Amino acid sequence: SDKAASSDEKVLRVGTNADFAPFEFQDENGSTEYQGFDMDLIRAVAKEMGYTAEIQNVNFDGLIPAMESGNIDIIASGMTINDERKGQVEFSDPYYTSGLTIVVPKDNNDIKGFADLKGKKIAVQIGTTSMEEAQKIEGADVKALNSSADTFMELKAGNVDAVINDLPVNDYYIAKTKDTDVKRLDDKLTSEEYGFAMKKGNTELKEKVDAALKTLKENGEYDKIYEKWFGT
Ligand code: GLN
Repeated sequence: SDKAASSDEKVLRVGTNADFAPFEFQDENGSTEYQGFDMDLIRAVAKEMGYTAEIQNVNFDGLIPAMESGNIDIIASGMTINDERKGQVEFSDPYYTSGLTIVVPKDNNDIKGFADLKGKKIAVQIGTTSMEEAQKIEGADVKALNSSADTFMELKAGNVDAVINDLPVNDYYIAKTKDTDVKRLDDKLTSEEYGFAMKKGNTELKEKVDAALKTLKENGEYDKIYEKWFGT
């Protein structure tokens, strides 16, 4: 089997939820190659460490459990660093600054920001900071779905009034699909930073990952990857 082949190949088992463009996704042609900012960055980090990244697609809310049960070594999935998760995992240094925004149907004129979401039907991705924030909104009917793609489908189907997702994910959806039926509101909630998550107590791996990230920021590789996905 793969024992012989892997005897001196160091593999970094990466878990991601590959339905979160432009950070992690599979292209429309059904290619199994995972694409996106996180995917390029984690491959570069692994390479810098002398490892090969082996990527597995897992539901977002299953990522931390997959790591706890030993199936993956690291999570690269647009995961926001927050206190609750810090109790469960070891985070790398932050590698991307994000935040939450709202998308509504273009003809909706009464939802102008987060303050107008009281009592509304809102779609979010399960286990995310969007879900956490939506659940704080008074009287909101929150539909927690498996992926950000599902949240947009619910909006298009008219089943919800609004969706909350990470800002770059909302913008990428609108730009990529050229979806003119929906609009992204300017109101931005929270400033969040993404980090790679590792098993609690695995400070050895965290140190290697942070060192690799630092090198990639210094040698221009990080900027190249950033430019590829977010450059104008
Ligand atoms: N950044 C958000 C979070 O950490 C969403 C991540 C995601 O859906 N992949 O909860």
